[in-house]
Amino acid sequence: MKFFFPDAHDLVDPSFNFDTEQRQFNGSRQLAQLYAHERLDRPPYDGMLISKAMVDGRGKSLRYSFTQVQKLKRLGAREFLRLDRPHFTRRMETMGDCGSFSYLTEPTPPFSVDEVIEFYLDAQFDYGISLDHVILGYDEKSKSISEAPEEWRGRFEITLQCAKEFFSKCQTRKVPFCPVGAAQGWSPQSYAVAVSELQKMGYHYIALGGMVPLKSREILACLEAVNEVRNPRTKLHLLGINRLEALDEFARMGVHSFDSTSALKKAFMDDKDNYHTKSRAYTAVRVPQVGENAALKKKILAGTVDHARARFLEKTCMDGLKALGQNNIGLTEVLGRLREYDILWRDGRDETERYRETLQDAPWRKCSCSICRDLGVHVVIFRGADRNRSRGFHNLHVLSENLREWTARNQPT
Ligand SMILES: [Zn+2]
Repeated sequence: MKFFFPDAHDLVDPSFNFDTEQRQFNGSRQLAQLYAHERLDRPPYDGMLISKAMVDGRGKSLRYSFTQVQKLKRLGAREFLRLDRPHFTRRMETMGDCGSFSYLTEPTPPFSVDEVIEFYLDAQFDYGISLDHVILGYDEKSKSISEAPEEWRGRFEITLQCAKEFFSKCQTRKVPFCPVGAAQGWSPQSYAVAVSELQKMGYHYIALGGMVPLKSREILACLEAVNEVRNPRTKLHLLGINRLEALDEFARMGVHSFDSTSALKKAFMDDKDNYHTKSRAYTAVRVPQVGENAALKKKILAGTVDHARARFLEKTCMDGLKALGQNNIGLTEVLGRLREYDILWRDGRDETERYRETLQDAPWRKCSCSICRDLGVHVVIFRGADRNRSRGFHNLHVLSENLREWTARNQPT
């Protein structure tokens, strides 16, 4: 099972000092900072995926500057993302897609098939996914394509037409990348029809899209239906899906790869599951920066919170956590300080028990990744991009370890 990590410029600054919170930033962030595959001892994924929407403003999730787009085109994705390192034991792969969630609300995709092919050629990807249009809706009981809402059928047709044009142009132009057909649907039956059509066009690798909002049970129902029509040679890719609990079933039904940012994003976007381990997730300890936190700034401006007191509590929390990391202070004392600051900035929401578990178990002490080794207690502090993203890198490490173990268990003997 291959894991592709979608690039969204998630880098950490190696010059950032976690104790003083100072950095020696110089020049381009993309050049000066490190990707997860550079920061961790071992790359935590098998390859990276770049969406056209990230490099083209019409997709509305532009992340690349003009200069970076030019550089990506000049160097290709491998060199741009620095995926070739002497100590890597396997060749990292690259995949391109259109980022169809970014133009979800548009009536038609903002790119043409030719533009997509040009992008894939410029970036020198190993795999390129055909242009698609997400169908936002799920109706498990829907048995007939013709009875579905017109909008769903329209997007279904656009996706298949683009796939047909894409495959034929890839053949004519003898492109060096492997064309991957995108399938969109709203039910097990519609996904099965899409896969069947894509196979007829000539695809051997098919990416199932639009499944991000679906429950694992619903994804499995779609895969069951797809499996009925799937040629044994056809490999499947799940776009944006990371459901480790279903890996066995995914593999049984032809899933060969997936991509997802969720391990990284949960580090700073989830309410409680921020720091992952093989057996469970822990809540990161929030110590917002007085000058940065929007809720706190508002309270200070409104005069309901005293600025100096907020600063004082922030500092005592950070000092307490650092001392705890060196076993120089009791846990109860630190939890008390955190509680006092919590009351000030988030109106009494009590996270003490969750924080107690995190700080008492100190899971970073048992983790072998370079982030936990170097950051210590800082990895569980929810504060600023460098800590939060570093914790996300740690989560990627845990995901990759889980996948390695799964692969070892499932390797044919
Ligand atoms: Zn770690």
